[in-house]
Amino acid sequence: AFACALNSQLRTVNFFRGEGLPAGSQLEVATRDRQVVHESVESVTFPGKRGCLGILPGHAPLLSELGVGELDYTHQGNKRFLAVTWGFAEVLPDRVIVLAQTAERAEEIDVERAKKAKERAEERLKKVSDPDVDLESARAALERAMTRIQTARKLRA
Ligand code: ATP
Repeated sequence: AFACALNSQLRTVNFFRGEGLPAGSQLEVATRDRQVVHESVESVTFPGKRGCLGILPGHAPLLSELGVGELDYTHQGNKRFLAVTWGFAEVLPDRVIVLAQTAERAEEIDVERAKKAKERAEERLKKVSDPDVDLESARAALERAMTRIQTARKLRA
């Protein structure tokens, strides 16, 4: 599910973009603690639970579970990147609302911290036969860390 932007299964289903459809969408990304994004956007891509969803203004309403991965959007022609984990996304013709467990803008990501989290997760995953190791949570931690590292890298791309 991670590597949303690299996923080749981008599913974009849009209404015919004729007269009367909105030229832009409002994107809101929030966690329990804070609002991370509140901007007008030209497009949004986010990790749905079963693959990436690409959204343009005028998209048919839909509700999707949010997986772990990269969310990106275009604001005045500039692409911006976020790492998100779990939650829900609601798509309406003129807005996209994302409620996530965690969300960080690429520039907020502490890469060293993510690298350490990745190493810890990898160490835990090596202990497959240790009954005290929760492999599911180690895998999930690895996925979060890799998503953060990948998203932060987009700043320099
Ligand atoms: P760690 O083991 O480093 O805490 P984690 O994947 O367990 O990583 P989460 O539980 O997903 O962390 O997130 C806890 C909080 O810390 C959230 O608010 C999240 O946005 C923030 N966070 C986690 N990792 C980073 C990071 N590398 N850079 C910036 N913020 C982070």
